Amino acid sequence: MVRELTHFIAGKQTPGTSGAFGDVYDPNTGEVTARVPLADRAETEAAIADAAEAQRAWGEWNPQRRARVLLRFLQLVDGERDSLARLLSSEHGKTIEDAHGDIQRGLDVVEFAAGIPHLLKGEFTDAAGTGIDVHSLRRPIGVVAGITPFNFPAMIPLWKAAPALACGNAFILKPSERDPSVPLRLAELFLEAGLPAGVLNVVNGGKEAVDTLLEDPRVEALGFVGSTPIAAHIYATAAAHGKRAQCFGGAKNHMIVMPDADLDQAVDALIGAGYGSAGERCMAISVAVPVGEETADALVARLKERVAALRIGRSDDPASDFGPLVSRDALERVRSYVDLGVEEGAELVVDGRDFTLPGHEDGFFAGASLFDRVTPAMRIYQEEIFGPVLSVVRAADYEEALRLPSEHPYGNGVAIFTRDGDTARDFTRRVDTGMVGVNVPIPVPVAYHTFGGWKRSGFGDLNQHGPDSVRFYTRTKTVTSRWPSGVKEGASFTIPTMG
Ligand code: NAD
Repeated sequence: MVRELTHFIAGKQTPGTSGAFGDVYDPNTGEVTARVPLADRAETEAAIADAAEAQRAWGEWNPQRRARVLLRFLQLVDGERDSLARLLSSEHGKTIEDAHGDIQRGLDVVEFAAGIPHLLKGEFTDAAGTGIDVHSLRRPIGVVAGITPFNFPAMIPLWKAAPALACGNAFILKPSERDPSVPLRLAELFLEAGLPAGVLNVVNGGKEAVDTLLEDPRVEALGFVGSTPIAAHIYATAAAHGKRAQCFGGAKNHMIVMPDADLDQAVDALIGAGYGSAGERCMAISVAVPVGEETADALVARLKERVAALRIGRSDDPASDFGPLVSRDALERVRSYVDLGVEEGAELVVDGRDFTLPGHEDGFFAGASLFDRVTPAMRIYQEEIFGPVLSVVRAADYEEALRLPSEHPYGNGVAIFTRDGDTARDFTRRVDTGMVGVNVPIPVPVAYHTFGGWKRSGFGDLNQHGPDSVRFYTRTKTVTSRWPSGVKEGASFTIPTMG
């Protein structure tokens, strides 16, 4: 049976009225399991109007009372983790165990956001001038929107919504149309946790819904996560409409393997970070950079064996290392990149192009591929593939290895594997990338630090979660006050100074 999904507006499941729908698939079978309505301008505007109305009261709730809603939400999600993880896996294709991680990483930020009252405290200067005190307030912005990608349907909506709500804003979520069921369920749980209706609205849709959010003057700020061309477009369009924006894009994350690295550890790291979630993570490692021919030969020999032995299967089979890709388009894109790598002259050490899972011939399963002798001039090196394909680029020495991620247009994450503290320290300071791991392949920062890439991986100057999220979702107001007993002068025609 094909489920009919809705929007979630004013605290209610709201059927779509535009007449346009998108198909949601089970990537394991290639079958359509649900239809998601695609909002038009009028439906999106109705959600914005409702959020603007709801925000007025919510913004006046005291911060601790708002935080209590988040605490109740944490408990409710905890109570249905298993069913959420199954639902997530059935639309995305990541394994159920990995879906649990997607939910947990989102909840980490909800926990952080429950402590936001502490970060909302303003600053105060006593006696900044004669009889004059100065204080600053952090005020909510109003209505803010989040546009999120398919690859973390629980984590990224929660990274955006929880800090925004804790800061007193109303939030409009436009989740990916490819796996919208978990975001919709999370919105229902927020309502159950005591969030007033309208403070969190979910509008499903594509470009028309996003364009409306970008253009409507009642939306004050937009957070985006997705591919780089759309991130760049949303950042520029939001700025042209006078809105605050933070837009996170694609990635090509390198992992440097120094000759002194623990090779077993490095191989494990590359297998997990390169092929976990079928490579559909913005922090996946897609380029391995062994330093020196000896390291490279040893690394490739071990990777070859491990990649060929990866278990690809249904996302709900606990024996699977990874499941299918999200869509047939994604599968065709990944296969065509492997074809391109061969044409460009890279050495295809493991070829995953012909993989099919018996009994699931219509599923979106991509086999695991491994390239050696990839060069920086190749498109398979320059572009994001977003699939289970790892490229090995051999570097002659440390300086060449450092230059590769630093000169790459993307700058999301990077890792170095070494036992040498001097090398690690030099690398972390000089590499031109937003998030760095030392013997940690996926350095996603914990919730109370901030997450964000550099260069073509991130547009805007504030990152996600951590203290930056409070800066992004609030406006600072600075108040200078003097009480009558402090007034000693008559009219003054010069710019006030503090004496
Ligand atoms: P996507 O860019 O196709 O879609 C992201 C969102 O934008 C979706 O909600 C989609 O509906 C919307 N969208 C798509 N086309 C649009 C258009 N023309 N105008 C307005 N909105 C549009 O990305 P995706 O395929 O869902 O996600 C994968 C991408 O996200 C990868 O590039 C990955 O690296 C990136 N990503 C980045 C991070 C990060 O933090 N940097 C995190 C996760 C994913």
